[in-house]
Amino acid sequence: MSNKAIISINGLSKTYGELQAVKNISFNVYEGEIFGLLGPNGAGKSTTLEILETLREKTSGQVTIGGFDLDKDPAEIKKIIGVQLQTSGFYPQLNLVELLKLFAGLYNTTIDPLEYLRLVNLEDKAKSLTKELSGGQKQRFSIATTLIHKPKIIFLDEPTTGLDPQARRNLWDLIKNIRNSGTTVIITTHYMDEAEQLCDRIAIMNEGTIIKLDTPENMIDELVASGFERPKQVKAANLEDVFLHLTGRMIPND
Ligand code: ADP
Ligand code: MG
Repeated sequence: MSNKAIISINGLSKTYGELQAVKNISFNVYEGEIFGLLGPNGAGKSTTLEILETLREKTSGQVTIGGFDLDKDPAEIKKIIGVQLQTSGFYPQLNLVELLKLFAGLYNTTIDPLEYLRLVNLEDKAKSLTKELSGGQKQRFSIATTLIHKPKIIFLDEPTTGLDPQARRNLWDLIKNIRNSGTTVIITTHYMDEAEQLCDRIAIMNEGTIIKLDTPENMIDELVASGFERPKQVKAANLEDVFLHLTGRMIPND
């Protein structure tokens, strides 16, 4: 992770009628990091993400992505970003290889579909339809489609919601691999553990504002240094660990 900003957001706001969904937020995303927008439902995470994705009009503020101004060069921004779509929107009668070829055609490029399926550990599903995939496999496939045009940045909106613990961990590994290969990742989540384990830096959003922005480690250290103590002794494992330990190798990957 560098300290070079690949996304700069300055005073971004969005109102829907009377509702101020995003209130004058400012932050930078650094090249090569996994940046998390963490917050409860309604915090304004998706609105913020969709504005960055050029899919939603902002009300005010400045946004620069990869050196391009969102107001002046949205077409240039589209070329360097990958946006995750729900697999329910993909042609249902095409298999995974055919879908990847179709996406490549839309991006005016040719790819080896199997290379992308290998990347997301779905080689054995090459001839499957998306409806035949598990929840985790669907997410991994839709992430593969975001990578076809070799974007500098990918956007993931709550990619692990509704997945079981093992599938979530598989997705975290995939997202870290994508980051390690040099792609910047912006992800929204309402899961605290996900933000802590996956993200290099986190912006905590609440009611349209960013109330804290730092690395998870710094946030925790700062809280501890302020004299905070957990009411109960923390155990070395949690129920999720127990479940994985008991069922671990017996459940399939997703
Ligand atoms: P999050 O992704 O954090 O759950 P959203 O950005 O989806 O938050 O929503 C923020 C607020 O804006 C919520 O109160 C939501 O109801 C509202 N909102 C989102 N989209 C629209 C829309 N298209 N029209 C009106 N209000 C919206
Ligand atoms: Mg949302």
